[in-house]
Amino acid sequence: MTASATADLAIVGGGMVGASLAVMLAPLGLSIALIEAQPVESAAQPSFDARTTALSNGTRKILSTMGVWDAVAAEATPIRSIHISERGRLGRAVIDAAEQSLPAMGYVLPNRVLGRELWRRLAGVPGVVVHSPATVTAVSADEQAVTVAWEQMGIASSVSARLVVAADGANSLVRTGSGLGATRRDYAQCAIVTSASPSQFHEHVAYERFTDEGPVAVLPLGDGRCAIVLTLPPEAATAAMQLDDAGFLDLVQARFGWRLGRLTALGRRDCYPLALTEAEDNVAARTVLVGSAAQGLHPIAGQGFNLALRDAATLAEVIADSALAAAPDERRDPGAPALLERYRDWRERDRRVLISFTDGLVRLFASPLPPLRFARSLGLLAFDLSPSAKSAMSGLSRGFATAQPRLARGLPLVGGLVS
Ligand SMILES: Cc1cc2nc3c(=O)[nH]c(=O)nc-3n(C[C@H](O)[C@H](O)[C@H](O)COP(=O)(O)OP(=O)(O)OC[C@H]3O[C@@H](n4cnc5c(N)ncnc54)[C@H](O)[C@@H]3O)c2cc1C
Repeated sequence: MTASATADLAIVGGGMVGASLAVMLAPLGLSIALIEAQPVESAAQPSFDARTTALSNGTRKILSTMGVWDAVAAEATPIRSIHISERGRLGRAVIDAAEQSLPAMGYVLPNRVLGRELWRRLAGVPGVVVHSPATVTAVSADEQAVTVAWEQMGIASSVSARLVVAADGANSLVRTGSGLGATRRDYAQCAIVTSASPSQFHEHVAYERFTDEGPVAVLPLGDGRCAIVLTLPPEAATAAMQLDDAGFLDLVQARFGWRLGRLTALGRRDCYPLALTEAEDNVAARTVLVGSAAQGLHPIAGQGFNLALRDAATLAEVIADSALAAAPDERRDPGAPALLERYRDWRERDRRVLISFTDGLVRLFASPLPPLRFARSLGLLAFDLSPSAKSAMSGLSRGFATAQPRLARGLPLVGGLVS
């Protein structure tokens, strides 16, 4: 594409959310420029890296409707129950899928598996032109169009589109370029992500254990191994990254306990600084923010991608509706102000509830104050005894929007029922 190229839509960032959105939009036949800095198989790819993601049942449904789930299901590990506890306190809670009449509470999927399948699908979409490795350097919008400029192997290019979608992560250049501000609150915590083999089978249980130094999550993987997300203050995380494998496993064992017996065969370790990033708005002139560009959450509740996929499914639907409503000879405009307003209104409640839920959880479990610690234990006990609280928790899977987008209900963007 040269400086004079045009497209209906430019998506900046082909990570978990940008690539998902491009696949969702494929049936609409729009012309889409997808610009991604790091190719999907690159070791430096920050979205499809060595992490695994806990997917909710709602996310599974969206991926199914997109036709992606069947291709990745063999590598997804079901979570049959979730066990929540606090080190040194009596309270604990268990949410069981069978009790909730669900086949699973969610699924654990390696990010690379999802990335490979999304990018494989993108290669076959006629309207999508992929520019990668290409780094977006500037965006500028007026009433009619937005110009997105990038550099690829030292060559500058640009496209003029009706809408730009910022799917370029928490430090979004598109967000800044559109003039939208964002607040960033550093949690003064880092998550070290790794994996290990437990001596006892995990029985498909996902553990979330709160400790004074931060939470530790242990998630089931298909080969009997477990994914580990250990949260620590930054200096402690730096020290933990320097430990040898035996020293690091001792640290995890001290934090997590012995529920799964001895942990051995530690995998590769990666460290992520944690912050809450919240854009002041998720739309601007000819611009929409999705995923981490709109809101970057603490992984404590495993909701970031699940929320973000609902951003993408909703945006795909408002674009589809406007394209289908337009008369055949009318030029469709995916960046029209009314469409952006509809997207903003639809996403408002879900984003607000999930951001405050996740942030509240971090604050509640970060506090060393005795009354709060006592309340936490009581809270876990009460939660464990309350079927309605557990069923409300299962509702996290669907999110809190006033209405579910079609893809989350098993309906394709265009045409009849899929699943
Ligand atoms: C430790 C950890 C564990 C997590 N676990 C879970 C979980 O279990 N469940 C869950 O739901 N969520 C989880 N999340 C959240 C989830 O990872 C994010 O919600 C998700 O990655 C957001 O995807 P994204 O595509 O919006 O942004 P990103 O993943 O940040 O991707 C942004 C993409 O944009 C590209 N890009 C950036 N700038 C440019 C540019 N200028 N030009 C071109 N391309 C650019 C990048 O290369 C990248 O590919 C976790 C997060 C962390 C940190």
